[in-house]
Amino acid sequence: MEKRKQDSLVSEIVNFIGEQTRLNPGCSPGVLSAAIQKRFRISSDQAEKLAGLVKEKPEAGRLGLAAIELNLTFNCNLTCAYCFIREKNQHERMSFATAAKAVDLLMERAAFPTVNITLIGGEPLLEFELIRQIVPYAHEAARRHNIFVTWSVTTNGTLLNETILEYFAQNRINMLLSVDGGEKNHDRYRRTKSGEGTWQKIAGLIPLIKSYQPWLGVRMTVSTEAVGDMREDFKQLVELGVNQFIIAPAQGAECWSKEQIEQYGLNLVEILQDYHALKRRGIPIFIEEFEKDENEYKGWGCRAGSTSLALAPDGAVSPCSKMLGLTDEGGKYVIGNINGELDLKLLEPFQNPISRQPQHCRHCTRKCSGGCYAVNFEQTGDHFTASEENCLFWVVCQETKRISGMLSAGGAQCQSCRARCQ
Ligand code: SF4
Ligand code: SF4
Repeated sequence: MEKRKQDSLVSEIVNFIGEQTRLNPGCSPGVLSAAIQKRFRISSDQAEKLAGLVKEKPEAGRLGLAAIELNLTFNCNLTCAYCFIREKNQHERMSFATAAKAVDLLMERAAFPTVNITLIGGEPLLEFELIRQIVPYAHEAARRHNIFVTWSVTTNGTLLNETILEYFAQNRINMLLSVDGGEKNHDRYRRTKSGEGTWQKIAGLIPLIKSYQPWLGVRMTVSTEAVGDMREDFKQLVELGVNQFIIAPAQGAECWSKEQIEQYGLNLVEILQDYHALKRRGIPIFIEEFEKDENEYKGWGCRAGSTSLALAPDGAVSPCSKMLGLTDEGGKYVIGNINGELDLKLLEPFQNPISRQPQHCRHCTRKCSGGCYAVNFEQTGDHFTASEENCLFWVVCQETKRISGMLSAGGAQCQSCRARCQ
């Protein structure tokens, strides 16, 4: 829990600085540090260090990193139908030299005292030996730069064993499993190369995984076919012992109708009711989307290309892994190769995304970040132009958060509300 709070604080500070510098690119380190100090109640020394790190490298194209995503391989032991790596290639593996250069870039450009490295793929556990090389290298580099590293790995979980779990626990590498729900919906897409479902395998491993990582997070991606089963899928995962969730619709190539989005919203509210009931019973559970403060607007645009970069196995650098997985070269938005030259100026649109806001966002009063760049590209051909589908999902999720806030407050609003409602 403590680590989660720390990660969340770092992420809030990252977003705050990103937003401040985007809204006012010319603001001085002094003004920025005062704003950070006031907003987060940290010491003036810490605030000055953070503000100074962001501003002291103008030659870096204002690149101040908080995170990198290392795609260790584009190979995978499964053949999930909607995987964002569309062109799997078992020969695309990251070398240690490439990974080390990526770590060096993160350390040199780090704008924060804590940075995050996400190990992703393909299936990153296919490259466990490489992980065993990168982790000590990064810890040593971080020690030299006086930086703290947090680790995440996104995995389908099927290759986990006690050796890997022990290593992850020792090195505080936090796992996020990709599980789509109960057996029916998980096995609909997440199959082995010979076509077998993988839910039973994951379900069997969860007690062992939980013995090493008691707070177990799952990314539950909801497809249009599975939208009717969302609540049941959630229940089955809770029964298995999963206690942290990222619930999100599978967006991109797949288009949602308005009716399907409405159904998604209604089912999300049902999950919300179950969530609060579990919490009332004292069961440890956390869904970030239901807990976020809706008033904490993080600004337009996400962290990709602003404070975070992703590397392909061959060293190609892009703002985000999801963008790297797009088939269209323009969509991938590669800014160079870590083993050669990087053109950091190409990141400018991502560092100042507000300048690329389309008209419909410019006049919109919702506190929305304008959609995922990768999904936007798939749906509209432009990273910065969100589809109507994004707007509808945003409204649905905000409404759910609002209801969540009311449930958390236990009706406290009613006592001070002047509306004549029953
Ligand atoms: S809700 Fe739609 S129009 Fe409004 S900011 Fe978000 S993407 Fe843009
Ligand atoms: S919102 Fe999309 S583009 Fe941004 S970091 Fe997430 S996956 Fe990448």
